[in-house]
Amino acid sequence: MPSITKFCYTCDSDEPHRPLTSPEKSWLKERTSRKNVEGFFMCQAPKCRNVRSGFNKRPFDPVIRVPLPD
Ligand SMILES: [Zn+2]
Repeated sequence: MPSITKFCYTCDSDEPHRPLTSPEKSWLKERTSRKNVEGFFMCQAPKCRNVRSGFNKRPFDPVIRVPLPD
């Protein structure tokens, strides 16, 4: 999956991001009660995994981080 460089609010720098996978989208729907979670990206910096949307660097307060897969 191609990485997209975007600003990460928690890293406070431009970092590679990738779209969420299907299981991560399902997780985020439950986590946020949102029906539509398209257009969200996860920061790929080591240990970050912060979630942002394409247009909003900080869509969640407090921030949401994707849990590591089991
Ligand atoms: Zn980050």
